[in-house]
Amino acid sequence: MNENVLEYSIQNSADTRQNKSFRERRCSRFGRGTLMKAELAIIGGTGFYNPGMAGNLEQLEVNTIYGSVTCQVGEHQGKNVVFLPRHGKEHNLPPHRINYRANIWALRELGVKCIISSTAVGSLRKEITPGMLVVLDQFIDFTKYRKHTFYDGTGGEVVHTDFTEPYCPQLRSCLCRILHQKGVPFLEKGTYICTEGPRYETPAEVKLFAAWGGDVVGMTNVPEVALAREAGLCYASLSLVTNYGSGLSSQPLNHQEVVEEMKAKINIIGDVFIKAFNSLTGVQDCRCAFKEDYKLGDKDN
Ligand SMILES: [Zn+2]
Repeated sequence: MNENVLEYSIQNSADTRQNKSFRERRCSRFGRGTLMKAELAIIGGTGFYNPGMAGNLEQLEVNTIYGSVTCQVGEHQGKNVVFLPRHGKEHNLPPHRINYRANIWALRELGVKCIISSTAVGSLRKEITPGMLVVLDQFIDFTKYRKHTFYDGTGGEVVHTDFTEPYCPQLRSCLCRILHQKGVPFLEKGTYICTEGPRYETPAEVKLFAAWGGDVVGMTNVPEVALAREAGLCYASLSLVTNYGSGLSSQPLNHQEVVEEMKAKINIIGDVFIKAFNSLTGVQDCRCAFKEDYKLGDKDN
């Protein structure tokens, strides 16, 4: 691996003017000093710290108005790919401390249009067993203290974004097609409950979440998926069930079993991501990208 650290800065761009609305900031172009452009990104979750796909990986520091982000870039079959381990390379960033806005903003500034992420989740149902993969299609947000939107009212802008399809249908069907081809057992749909963490859930919470329609529980997919949509990026997440939720198993939960289960399946997940990227063109044939029709229609007046 090439450990060169490329400096990418947008600090001098007009985006840093805090009185600009998000719409104006979103419409701005690359700042001066751009060194690369990538249309595809992987956000790696627990146990996924190496994309295993791109040659000549280089570490890239992206300074955004929301904070600094360190990621890796590399080339895969002629396409630049960004890899961003959301917990940091050494897994030293707990879910509630992740700077989700900076992460998504940095990817957008690098030209990324499509993001596929991995998430380790707990099962809320006996029939969803550890080792299963789930292509998420809905989420329920139980986070509490996170900066969860780019539309924070700066510039007097009030926007409510449509989330009828929280995850990109184009990316989801791509993941499902590949998993079918591989013959890997998986669920084509799943509702993700996102908790604040870092503690695990109580058995009472697991019962409640299941009764409310949740299938799996994790700590990171929100606000990541929501911010991607606000930024006009396609986003899908492949979840690996690493354990039963509290109360569904006689064993207490521990982080090591999550890491071990992820280790056992990391090659499958990596292969699915590689195949997905081989088939993606970066063209967004869906409603995830910014379109005046539905964004303006949802704006308060
Ligand atoms: Zn999309």
